[in-house]
Amino acid sequence: MTEVFSVIFFALLCRMIENQVSLKNYNTFGIDVKAREFSTFSTVEELKSILNQRNKSLPVIILGGGSNVLFTKDVEALVLKNEINGITAISEDDESISFKVGAGVVWHSFVQYTVERKLGGIENLSLIPGSVGASPMQNIGAYGVEIKDVFVSLEAFHIDSLEVHTFTNKACQFGYRESVFKRKLKNQYVIVSVTYRLMKNPVLNTNYGAIQQEIQSLQVEKIDVSTVSQAVINIRQSKLPDPTKIGNAGSFFKNPVVKSDVFFALRQKFPNIPNYPQENGDYKLAAGWLIEQIGYKGKKAGNCGVHDLQALVLVNYGAATGKEIYDLSSEIISEVKRVFNVELEREVNIY
Ligand code: FAD
Ligand code: NAP
Repeated sequence: MTEVFSVIFFALLCRMIENQVSLKNYNTFGIDVKAREFSTFSTVEELKSILNQRNKSLPVIILGGGSNVLFTKDVEALVLKNEINGITAISEDDESISFKVGAGVVWHSFVQYTVERKLGGIENLSLIPGSVGASPMQNIGAYGVEIKDVFVSLEAFHIDSLEVHTFTNKACQFGYRESVFKRKLKNQYVIVSVTYRLMKNPVLNTNYGAIQQEIQSLQVEKIDVSTVSQAVINIRQSKLPDPTKIGNAGSFFKNPVVKSDVFFALRQKFPNIPNYPQENGDYKLAAGWLIEQIGYKGKKAGNCGVHDLQALVLVNYGAATGKEIYDLSSEIISEVKRVFNVELEREVNIY
């Protein structure tokens, strides 16, 4: 009898691994490629059971919302979609509440959850597509805030040893759209939960871009986290293409950061070049501006192109292949290099 129960229990834990599954609905570019093997998991136990039964000759690729990936060919890997849910308050003091959040939770749902409770820290990161589990991957950022500012720790499942390891903020080695998981530990871990600390009396960050202006147009009596969140939502909806209507993965390139001598030389030639001085003396340039200057804003290239309102975003007009989009990005990189002698780096993860 016990054996029967064990078999049933094991069968329940075992998620089916399917073969040759289309990833079209699993990436916001809407690229139609096939994964050699595909499965989903909603608990750590399910993840462990899938990894135990997997074909070890295939690499493993984890997908959240697929909003920061470009598939350029069929994927010779086991693709695992993370569906671990749950938001749990794990500690509280006079100033803050910390939440442990399942990696499969939709990022913007978590933002809304905190905004509804008047907790501050991630209101500027409203409406970023994707999952909580991917948020530390590139230390998501927008409107002057990065997740490293509220990040406490994460739990990640080590694909080879099948052990869960905890990473502190320092251990994640966060940088500008960077973390250790995009570099040294790439493809080695599955992030299963993230813990963030949100503030009860937050200092609002409204200095960035058009936020102040948008807040004024909202005409509220008291500005709070929900005002800032709404302002960010309005700005984003007015500027960025909605991936459910037109395929894209947000900014395709990172903003380049250059040494001061390189910047001064550039400013001699291009006096209007937008620039943001960094704490270490380097200068961040706006990749969107560079792309606009080389005449690519709004440019179409077959089935894909550069968005007409935001030159950092490459779009799929419906039938583009990942290779077409990749080739367009290569063309932009060489043209920017030729005109400005600045090397653009892709932000989107290429497979
Ligand atoms: P995916 O695309 O599924 O995965 C991205 C990478 O992380 C892949 O390499 C994947 O293997 C890995 N990964 C995902 N989940 C896990 C996990 N649990 N464990 C281990 N590895 C994992 N980004 C910003 O930073 N700021 C923005 O303002 C912003 N705006 C955007 C606007 C639009 C319209 C779009 C389409 C994208 C935007 N992005 C932005 C990019 C993107 O939304 C974020 O990078 C987001 O965090 C990606 O989440 P995801 O779940 O879709 O990740
Ligand atoms: P924007 O406000 O038009 O600004 C253009 C660029 O200049 C941005 O990329 C931004 O860099 C930089 N910038 C502007 N004001 C700045 C300031 N006060 N200090 C430092 N840097 C400044 O940008 P946008 O395209 O509308 O995007 C708004 C925000 O959403 C940005 O933070 C952007 O990163 C984020 N976003 C990200 C993605 C993505 O996929 N990664 C997609 C859409 C929007 P930063 O990018 O470093 O902030």
